[in-house]
Amino acid sequence: MTIQRPSLDRAAELREEPDVLVRLRDDPTTRVVVVREGRVRVVDSALVRVAPDAVGAATWALLGRDADGTVLLLAAAPPETDALDTAPDEIWLGLRDLGGRIDGRESELLISAIALAGWLQDAAFCPTCGGETELRQAGWSRRCLVCGRQHFPRTDPAVIVAVESRDGERLLLGANANWGGRMFSCFAGFTEAGESLESTAYREIEEESGVRLSALRYVSSQPWPFPRSLMVGFRAVVDDESTARADGEEIIEVRWFTRAEIGSALAGDGPVGLPGPASIARALILDWYEDKA
Ligand SMILES: [Zn+2]
Repeated sequence: MTIQRPSLDRAAELREEPDVLVRLRDDPTTRVVVVREGRVRVVDSALVRVAPDAVGAATWALLGRDADGTVLLLAAAPPETDALDTAPDEIWLGLRDLGGRIDGRESELLISAIALAGWLQDAAFCPTCGGETELRQAGWSRRCLVCGRQHFPRTDPAVIVAVESRDGERLLLGANANWGGRMFSCFAGFTEAGESLESTAYREIEEESGVRLSALRYVSSQPWPFPRSLMVGFRAVVDDESTARADGEEIIEVRWFTRAEIGSALAGDGPVGLPGPASIARALILDWYEDKA
């Protein structure tokens, strides 16, 4: 898998300019992406950009620059705001609704907007002393007005792992209790305090599927702002295939799949369902499948 270059220019050099958000909101060339309750407006697979004076009450931040150099702001609108006119062909959609329907810059813009909007709305008070905070760095940090500490939008790492047999011919997937037993996917779990990503992978796989890993290789990652995860994707080789068993709690069944079975499932022809096109889980499964397909 090749490394994906960033497609969104975050214009980080503008964040230190005093009152930059005031200046940019007064600039008629600025455009704004409005996020409300984790949703954005979309027309024809592109996020709707509006002029700053079309936005009502909101918390503001700098998102970056569009392909043509236009500066993009984020307006995190409170749920009760209804001041925005919605054209009939515009719909408010969340990341889950949009999976696979937008890509590249729009996808990066969407995920950044939803993640930052979530932090702007949920983290108004200092986690150290509970004091009020003021936004800094064009919406990318907060300073506590009581104790003076600085706080930044957090990202919580989680690992997701595609586990293959020693000969590389079969893939071990699990059916999560939440998926009703028809869908199988890679194993995943959050990194705990003080844990490395490798240790997380080793521990989570053994807990959920009963197998120990003999090799682990980083593939790619995917931000997932619900509320603030970064999914770090690995491929791994199992040590002893015969120990595979579901933990019976989070994972209700584990199964080894042949390449032919995965090919059929990727095509939507059974025997089981696989994760959707926008997911890193599917990307990892594809990465394995295409090794020898
Ligand atoms: Zn404080």
